[in-house]
Amino acid sequence: MITINPNYAKLQGSYLFAEVARHVKEYQAAHPDKRVIRLGIGDVTCPLTSSIIASLHQGVDDMSKLETFQGYPPYEGFQFLRERIAAYDFHRRGLQMSADEIFVSSGAKEDTANFQELFAPTAKIAITDPVYPVYLDSNIMAGRGGNFANGRFDGVVYLDSTLDNDFCPDLPNEPVDLIYLCFPNNPTGQVATKAALTKWVEYARANNALILFDAAYEAYIQDETLPRSIYEIEGAREVAVEFRSLSKTAGFTGTRLSYTIIPNEVMVSDEKGTLHQLNKLWLRRQSTKFNGVSYIIQKGAEPVFTEAGRKEINDTILYYLGNAAVIRKGLDALNIAYSGGKNAPYIWLKTPKNLSSWDFFHKLLNECQVVGTPGVGFGKCGEGFFRLTAFGQRADVEEAIARLSTLDL
Ligand code: PLP
Repeated sequence: MITINPNYAKLQGSYLFAEVARHVKEYQAAHPDKRVIRLGIGDVTCPLTSSIIASLHQGVDDMSKLETFQGYPPYEGFQFLRERIAAYDFHRRGLQMSADEIFVSSGAKEDTANFQELFAPTAKIAITDPVYPVYLDSNIMAGRGGNFANGRFDGVVYLDSTLDNDFCPDLPNEPVDLIYLCFPNNPTGQVATKAALTKWVEYARANNALILFDAAYEAYIQDETLPRSIYEIEGAREVAVEFRSLSKTAGFTGTRLSYTIIPNEVMVSDEKGTLHQLNKLWLRRQSTKFNGVSYIIQKGAEPVFTEAGRKEINDTILYYLGNAAVIRKGLDALNIAYSGGKNAPYIWLKTPKNLSSWDFFHKLLNECQVVGTPGVGFGKCGEGFFRLTAFGQRADVEEAIARLSTLDL
């Protein structure tokens, strides 16, 4: 009989959000009269803006005419979109970037999960703890986990993000090859200053490491002194790949479009020491395993990279940040400590009375029907923490906070 990839047997539990959904479903089945408010999963709720909808319609119309019909899209994305991204996200901010350094894809989840396959199975990876689970699990599937004991894989280097270091982890104290960083962070909502990112870029340059920088939430940064891209840091073009997504920037969680930036300067070595351009390796990978993002979706994404289109989506981002402010105010009143929620859509709170993450989850679900995400699901350091998201509708967020305020916390 065929045997499974043994690495899959090492994966811990089911995917966190599936586990949360299962508990909510069970609760709802047992209490059909109760209205559950979800502040847990990181999915958006506001509809696409009118300029995006108009552009999607245009894309559909283009497909109806001989002259504008499109078949398979280019693996790396249509040139019109890549040029707009380069101009809007980078040139406008004084950063160098060419269209051929941008790869359009269907999701940062896919790309952050797939990127590791360009590297040797022996590559040492460093992830923060807590972490967006995709970085870890994709590496476990690829056989980089080693053995699992005491809540951790011994083949992985964990960078603790704790209250003590203000959720900005220290540099690793052993050599690593691939470093996953995410700022603004999911789940902690923490942001990185230029000085903090400079430390990582310098480390990567000195140690021949590569930074995989997940900027999925850069659009939430309000503080102009904070970097929105790793390429704002001197020297990052040689040692960093950046992942960006329209999911939370423009409500594309269901529409699907992201882009990955691989500067031409990033070189990686094979086992004989010959250098290869990482950009070309990713193109080779994508052209074998990926057939591009539909023309209609890429057309729909175009207004995101215009001033008029951005104004509309900024209104949505400010709406979500307004939700975050409601949550922060509620937590302040309850004397509950938290990080995030100012330049990020996530609020990472310390559970009251030292409850475990899952105990707090069940308390909120059972006593006030509010759903959040147990911090321990993001890693060992997440134990005793809980994540709330700002992606709901205002009335629900207000009701959730009002319900929380009635509990003995
Ligand atoms: N990266 C981080 C840090 C995320 O939190 C998420 C979604 O929750 C993603 C990537 C996935 O983005 P996408 O919808 O583009 O796949």
